[in-house]
Amino acid sequence: MKKIAILGSTGSIGTQALDICARHPEEYRVAALTAKSSREKLFEQVRTFRPEMAGLMDGIREDEIPEDLRFCRWMSGAEALHAAAAEVEADQVLVSIVGIAGLQSVMDALQAGRQVLLANKEALVTGGHLVMDLAKKTGKPILPVDSEHSAIFQCLQAAGANKPTKILLTASGGPFRTWEKERIRTATRSQALKHPNWNMGAKITVDSASMFNKGLEIMEARWLFDMPEDRIQVVVHPESVVHSAIEFEDGAVLAQLGAPDMRVPIGYAMSYPARMTTGVKGPDLFQIGKMTFEEPDEEKFPSLRMAKDALKAGGAACTVLNGANEEAVAAFLREEITFGEIYDLVARALDKLSGLMADSLDEIYEADRKAREVVRER
Ligand code: NAD
Ligand code: MG
Repeated sequence: MKKIAILGSTGSIGTQALDICARHPEEYRVAALTAKSSREKLFEQVRTFRPEMAGLMDGIREDEIPEDLRFCRWMSGAEALHAAAAEVEADQVLVSIVGIAGLQSVMDALQAGRQVLLANKEALVTGGHLVMDLAKKTGKPILPVDSEHSAIFQCLQAAGANKPTKILLTASGGPFRTWEKERIRTATRSQALKHPNWNMGAKITVDSASMFNKGLEIMEARWLFDMPEDRIQVVVHPESVVHSAIEFEDGAVLAQLGAPDMRVPIGYAMSYPARMTTGVKGPDLFQIGKMTFEEPDEEKFPSLRMAKDALKAGGAACTVLNGANEEAVAAFLREEITFGEIYDLVARALDKLSGLMADSLDEIYEADRKAREVVRER
């Protein structure tokens, strides 16, 4: 029996992880659940999975807890995240909250000796060196949940003595892949939220449309697999069947294929090094018929170039890119700025804030704060 704590349990990743727990009640016991503000959904989850602790970032008062849910220890705010990541007894901590908010939880969970299952790519984007150093010290490697990184991780299990020389990071290309550049700049909120293949939370769906998601994933791959950015090739693959691949020294390429369903990578992280059923069927290759691959258009999607430049620049550049993007996407979702302005604002923050350091968590948070300020003052 493994005990799992799920941070961000009401989100897209969190609910799919609980779906897997429900399929394997003999193997998984849910120890803690947290959410930002979706109380009713969290109440329902606590009723079903009966964790010993539950938390709401936005807070909950004693008298607001339903009678039948008082068996559980309820907590509020940052304390709740900390308790779920590091205090509640658990073998695994799934960090599936969104944004830089995940960084502290990943560090807390590692420090407490937990096995981290990582959906929250922003933790590696902003604090990759700190997270990987700590993971190395504790001897518990970070298990990726992001589908591309899980694919790469799965391919690595079959590498043997073959040396990886290149990561082929696939991307669907998002809803604007075939649009002209000018049209993309004026895309609306509902257009950006219509992802062709995946059903995900709002922030990552907008990131997929702008391709900042793929930029963040280049950074994530750089840290997880210690691969320099010039050996990470983004491959646009609109069918989303190949979830990523590795090219090896001898010319062989290993890829992982599957339906676009996150329960496969979530399940692999949960069961690693074993495997388990997830309720997902393999893809029907006859129905798919053909698969296509394109070079990414960096002219249309400047996010890719910005991400690679930020990685090369080092220091806090990736944190600045991430903070400015989080803030700009939030403004776009409130319909305060256009889609094109997301790129402009991130570029502006990177331009204004070059040379910041990111050697400690404090410096990372300071760079994040400054990047958001540049976006807000605009
Ligand atoms: P989501 O918006 O659907 O859910 C986010 C969850 O985190 C919710 O439970 C929410 O209550 C909680 N939350 C939000 N902000 C928070 C904060 N500031 N502090 C604490 N909790 C907070 O998001 P999602 O799509 O499930 O994505 C979660 C993470 O997983 C992101 O980092 C995303 O990039 C990554 N990811 C998601 C997918 C996917 O298919 N959804 C795929 C790959 C990677
Ligand atoms: Mg991904």
